[in-house]
Amino acid sequence: MPKPPADSDSNRRQFVTTATLATAAAATGGFPSIAKGAAPLSLPSLPWAEAALDPVISSKTISYHYGKHHKGYVDTLNGLIAGTPLEGQPLEAIVKAASADPAKKGVFNNAAQAWNHTFYWNSLRPKTSKPGKPEGALFGKIEAAFGGYEAFRKEFVDAGMTQFGSGWAWLVSDGGKLKIAKTANADTPLTTSQVPLLVIDVWEHAYYLDYQNRRKDYLTAVVDGLLNWEFAGKNLAVK
Ligand code: MN
Repeated sequence: MPKPPADSDSNRRQFVTTATLATAAAATGGFPSIAKGAAPLSLPSLPWAEAALDPVISSKTISYHYGKHHKGYVDTLNGLIAGTPLEGQPLEAIVKAASADPAKKGVFNNAAQAWNHTFYWNSLRPKTSKPGKPEGALFGKIEAAFGGYEAFRKEFVDAGMTQFGSGWAWLVSDGGKLKIAKTANADTPLTTSQVPLLVIDVWEHAYYLDYQNRRKDYLTAVVDGLLNWEFAGKNLAVK
C-alpha cells in the first residue's frame, strides 16, 4: 500500500478514507479498484450479493441501481476525462478538482455520483436477526450529539424526507462532532471539511421499484435494518 501524502491533514484523511473503503471491501470481496486511479476507472464490485438486502431493498432495485445507474456514472465519467489531465487520477481527486471548476460541472456530477454510490453500498449491510446499532465510541458520540439513538434515528429519516428532490442523507463528523447532513443531486461532503460516516441515497431510483412514493418507509427500513455501523466506526476512527 502506498504511503499517504504527508503535506496536509486533509490529504492524509482522504488517503485513509480510501484505504478504509478498500479494507472494508477486501473483507467482503469489495472494491479495491476505487483507490487505484487506473485509467479507465472501473465499477467497484458490490460488497454483498444483489439479493442480500431483500426484502428491504430488492435485488431488482440493486440490479438497476448498481448495474445501470452507478455503472452509467462511471462510464460517462471515463468518457468525459479521457485524454484530459484528470485521466488516471484517483476518483477522490477528480471529485475535488472538478468541484472547484464551474466548467467541469459534468465531470463533477458523474465523479461525485460514482463516489457517493460506492460509499452508499458500503453504508449498507445485509439485515441480521438483531437490529444493528452503533457501539462503543460511536454510540457515545451519537448520544452526545443527538441526545440518544432514537433522536438520531428520527433526525436521519427526517433529513432524507426533507431533501427536496434528488439527493443524499448523511451522517458526518464535523470537527469531531456527529451531525446529520443532506446534499442535493451529486453534492457530497467529500468536498467539505466534514468526514462522511454513512449515507442513504434518496434519489427516486433508490426506492421507487420497492416503495413507489413512500420514501419514509424506505428510509425507516434502511435506518432500522441495513446501516453498516462497522463501516461508520472505521470512517470515524480515521478522522
Ligand atoms: Mn443512486
